[in-house]
Amino acid sequence: MSKFWSPLVNDLVPYVPGEQPKIANLVKLNTNENPFGPSPRVVEAIRAEAGDNLRLYPDPEGDALRQTIAGYHDVRPEQVFLGNGSDEVLAHVFFGLFQHGEPILFPDVTYSFYPVYCGLYQIEGVPVPLTDQFEINPDDYRRPNGGVIFPNPNAPTGRFLPLDQVETIIQANPDRVVVVDEAYVDFGGDSAIALVDRYPNLLVTQTLSKARSLAGLRVGFAVGHPDLIEALNRVKNSFNSYPLDRLALAGAKAAFEDEDWFRHCCDGVIRERERMTAALTELGFEVLPSRANFIFARHPGHNGEALASGLRSQGIIVRHFKKPRIDAFLRITIGAPEQNDALIRGVGSLL
Ligand SMILES: *Cc1c(COP(=O)(O)O)cnc(C)c1O
Repeated sequence: MSKFWSPLVNDLVPYVPGEQPKIANLVKLNTNENPFGPSPRVVEAIRAEAGDNLRLYPDPEGDALRQTIAGYHDVRPEQVFLGNGSDEVLAHVFFGLFQHGEPILFPDVTYSFYPVYCGLYQIEGVPVPLTDQFEINPDDYRRPNGGVIFPNPNAPTGRFLPLDQVETIIQANPDRVVVVDEAYVDFGGDSAIALVDRYPNLLVTQTLSKARSLAGLRVGFAVGHPDLIEALNRVKNSFNSYPLDRLALAGAKAAFEDEDWFRHCCDGVIRERERMTAALTELGFEVLPSRANFIFARHPGHNGEALASGLRSQGIIVRHFKKPRIDAFLRITIGAPEQNDALIRGVGSLL
């Protein structure tokens, strides 16, 4: 606290990202990064862009990338909005598409950035409890609100809500924007982008950080009705007109042009996820069914925090949330096969 801070900054409770320790040889399974590198074509495209052109500002609207994404998802470019990571897209959503003054609904167990944005923009967030099985019940979203947001698959549970139930939530809120945060959809979920032409109140966000192995490049996007996209552009152009730099625009475009690499990486993660689920179940864990690149697991006889710190002393980092309802769980990112083997061995030695 300092006398120079605004009162709002005094009251902020910022998001705490997963740790990025600077220690070599860690088995780092705590921030849902992809064990595969980005497509070699992405690296090539970034190299090609890294020249004299960098003295020039990038295309403020990222037209070439928006066209590529629109083509990939079979929508029109004016239905696509780009951001510096999907976190930035989500920030603009909270500011520009939710009705401040009315409660914003999201699951009680979910991405912990949502309450942070509520704090930043001074809007009320209302956590809606998941069921005992950690599922979203669409009927819980039939109540007055200023907007609805949930990840699908949800984080950190990994559970996927079938599209017909997503549709129920959208239909129950025709006068409010419903945001489906699909950071993990490529690991086995179905995208609600298929529904955007039917519902002008639906906005879908995705990121290149997870399935496309580009967490370091910072590219995310939203797809929805052009009126929703226009609101996001108005906020963006009142904040930072050039959110994506030239390297990010070039690399992201190349990522969508290498479908084989993308498939290969997603399939590899899914295969390892199923192997990890089986191995941990064998060790006595309850593992929630995951469609993401992580699993959420608890052991009936062991404390989550103790397991996480026991693993840490073996150089294996997973995520533990000291929060009601999920205190017993570990969120374990699916890593490379040898990292996953280390995790299974490490956990086995602690039980
Ligand atoms: C990782 C993640 C994001 C943000 O990703 P960016 O790296 O900012 O694109 C958004 N939502 C959820 C649920 C995530 O897990």
